Amino acid sequence: MPNQSSPAVIIAGGGPVGLVVALMLGRAGIAVTLFDQGDIVHSQPRAATIHPATLDILDDLGAYALIEPQGIVCPIVNYYDGKLLLASFDHALLKGETRHPWVLQCEQDKLSRTLFAMAKAIPNITFRTATKVTGCSQASGAVEVIVEAAGGGQERHQALYLIGADGARSTVRTAVGVEFEGFTYPERSMIIGTPYDFAADGYAYRNYIADPDEWYNLFKISWLGPPGIYRLVVPLRPDEVVDGDHALATAQCKLQRFNPRPESYEIAFYDSYSVAQRVAATFRKGRVLLAGDSAHLNSPIGAMGMNSGIHDAVNLAESLIRVLCGGESDASLDRYERQRRHVATAHVQTATITNKQNMEQRDPVKRQRYRDEMRRRAEDPLLAKAFLMRTALIDSLRDAERIV
Ligand SMILES: Cc1cc2nc3c(=O)[nH]c(=O)nc-3n(C[C@H](O)[C@H](O)[C@H](O)COP(=O)(O)OP(=O)(O)OC[C@H]3O[C@@H](n4cnc5c(N)ncnc54)[C@H](O)[C@@H]3O)c2cc1C
Repeated sequence: MPNQSSPAVIIAGGGPVGLVVALMLGRAGIAVTLFDQGDIVHSQPRAATIHPATLDILDDLGAYALIEPQGIVCPIVNYYDGKLLLASFDHALLKGETRHPWVLQCEQDKLSRTLFAMAKAIPNITFRTATKVTGCSQASGAVEVIVEAAGGGQERHQALYLIGADGARSTVRTAVGVEFEGFTYPERSMIIGTPYDFAADGYAYRNYIADPDEWYNLFKISWLGPPGIYRLVVPLRPDEVVDGDHALATAQCKLQRFNPRPESYEIAFYDSYSVAQRVAATFRKGRVLLAGDSAHLNSPIGAMGMNSGIHDAVNLAESLIRVLCGGESDASLDRYERQRRHVATAHVQTATITNKQNMEQRDPVKRQRYRDEMRRRAEDPLLAKAFLMRTALIDSLRDAERIV
């Protein structure tokens, strides 16, 4: 058993998922230690879209009022086929289903900084940055976690539960021997930020652009500047180089191919990444629970990774609070696994795999079917609302609640 001074819960990873779990457990009076191998507030370009269902959750946590001024409120999302606008959806159709019938474009590091500042104010949460979780084992009612601190020294910590919120390459998931089932796409994608104002060319703040030659996702992600930053996500062909000096030239070429202009684009940042569709074989192994990217990975098209990870975090924190403070049986943690693994496989994987297929569809018959379907949805308010209920992840939360 852990001794008196041990935390009840150890969290590996201080991304948005680990921070939400820490915040909720800490507020419930549970002693928590969170280890992060980095500094928590790194600003690599990643998530920027926060859907209505997640905004409701962040509002309940008191975070929404803090992030809204840092983001861009976007009720509209547009779908194109090449240059042809197929469909425009207004999240106002979700009034009555959510308190936030819009998407907030707010970069992940801004959310993390906000959640970190909130959680740091809670005395029973201990943060250990620059400290890497390297392994864990379970025995006699406790879990032992091995960490390597900044100076290189090894430490052992005990707790009742360990949460693996340590991202795609999760050490915790590997340490407990859970398979990460699925596949990785052969091609990489590129993400490019520019202060160029695509609104002047008629684009909304959120645009999905299907194209059999080269698809694009174009989002305004901040007001930085002003005029602010638009972000283009685009697949890389195998012959396109993204190493060293070539990366900037490739980014310029991608922007020019998307929207040719005589002048060069100013490039604020660029990065490339690989995309996988994977779900952990189980989200629970005894006293070890997985959440967020350590439990599931998906293509960013549709913006569901961080959003669904935050939904895991809330479900898991509420389950642990019922067990640790409400006397509920530990077996009830299996419900977390049943509900959230179902969402990962039946909602997020299905939607994101289909989104990518639609973006890059080369078969003319399937492409025409996609065009017709999007136009029909946009013209019929009932179909449009049903579509937004899925993309905004409201359906997935309600579906999970039905699982006992
Ligand atoms: C280009 C791109 C765009 C995206 N856009 C969106 C979007 O718009 N909306 C959306 O919902 N999702 C989006 N995503 C996905 C989103 O970024 C992830 O789903 C999200 O970061 C998952 O959060 P997390 O807390 O689970 O993991 P992470 O954010 O990866 O955090 C994991 C944390 O664990 C720490 N860590 C790792 N290993 C260890 C260890 N051994 N010991 C201690 N600490 C460790 C890391 O330092 C890190 O702080 C995007 C992803 C990419 C790549």
